[in-house]
Amino acid sequence: MYKIIFLVLLLVKFFWSLTLQLLSNKQVGKPLPKSVQGIYDESEYNKWRSYNNKKDKLHLASNAISLVFNIVLFCTNIISVVYYALPGDVMVKSMLFFLLIGLVETIISLPIDYIFNFKIEAEFGFNKVTPKIFIVDTIKNYIIGNVLNIAIFGLVLLAYNLLGDYFGIIAFLGLAVLMILISAFSSVFSKIFNKFTSLPEGELRTNLSKMFEDAGYKLKDIYVMDASKRTTKANAYCGGIGKMKQIVLYDNLVNNYTEGEITAVFAHELAHFKNKDTTKMTFFNMLNFLPMMVVMTVMMIVPEIAQSYGFSDANIFFAFYVSFGSMLSIVTQLIMIPFNYMSRAFERRADSLAFEKGYGDELITALRKLHKDSLSDMNPHPTVVKLTYNHPPLHERIELIESKKVNK
Ligand SMILES: [Zn+2]
Repeated sequence: MYKIIFLVLLLVKFFWSLTLQLLSNKQVGKPLPKSVQGIYDESEYNKWRSYNNKKDKLHLASNAISLVFNIVLFCTNIISVVYYALPGDVMVKSMLFFLLIGLVETIISLPIDYIFNFKIEAEFGFNKVTPKIFIVDTIKNYIIGNVLNIAIFGLVLLAYNLLGDYFGIIAFLGLAVLMILISAFSSVFSKIFNKFTSLPEGELRTNLSKMFEDAGYKLKDIYVMDASKRTTKANAYCGGIGKMKQIVLYDNLVNNYTEGEITAVFAHELAHFKNKDTTKMTFFNMLNFLPMMVVMTVMMIVPEIAQSYGFSDANIFFAFYVSFGSMLSIVTQLIMIPFNYMSRAFERRADSLAFEKGYGDELITALRKLHKDSLSDMNPHPTVVKLTYNHPPLHERIELIESKKVNK
């Protein structure tokens, strides 16, 4: 009975992504909206189509593999068999299980990651990942992923031992705090992966500092981050804890965009920063944890769920593994629909504010370049946008700025 519920969840998840992909396929070959014509020439556009097609197929393959993997896990008693075979108490057993399953997952996803980076991304000239970086990143991700998993499980176990039935609510609050810390210290995390250098003195530095200080912030420094060793994508953000704030520009942005365009992108990011959009989205993202906590609590109250998987009683490890696994991501995706709607509104407001600062035209050329460089979808299916996009598609953003120009 419970196995059927899990199976249904897994299938809904798979068919949700399949549906999104079929909708996207329907868009192929449709004429582009006027505002985004001429960004790709015909050969580039075809390149984009074949890039997306290959990416979609890979994505589907990876979904199918994870569907099979999860069906094996959740339609058999393999989890409890492995769990009971491992030595130690709950914490040690769980730690070993995470390390083991993490290793299996890393190995299974290795061919897909490899094909993505070295076949598809490389074929289209995006890949900046050398085999050495690929291996080091895979190992770093494995270690960081497991350290996080084990640390979070440790907290959950502690909360459960201390608080019994109410641990779900407490764990939710604990996670909220953790997420705030992670977002506050994200600059520290990115220093593990990247190098930061100060932006040299010059017109760009003067303009950005002025705009930043006009907005009422104290500037610690403007950094250029070496994002280009991993990606060709360009971005900028503001951050920092306390009074002194820092600006981070991707080196791709600094090297390939005009000073006007960089300032326009920055004006957009500054608007997010000023309106606390990022903080709000972090807050909404915390609601993602709510279904987890509900499921976890239910699984502890109803021992029959764990028993149907071969556990002798309700089991905190199993409850955690289900709640934090990828299966619930379908619930999360459904929850995110209204928040994506809000995020798209934040993006429109940030674009409007960059326009009002006088950077409308530069923002348009920058956005066209940004989308061109990442070969992103110029004409996504409207339903796909409504369901999954946290940014409006390019043609809507350009049309918004153009309409403001007409009204001025
Ligand atoms: Zn934005």
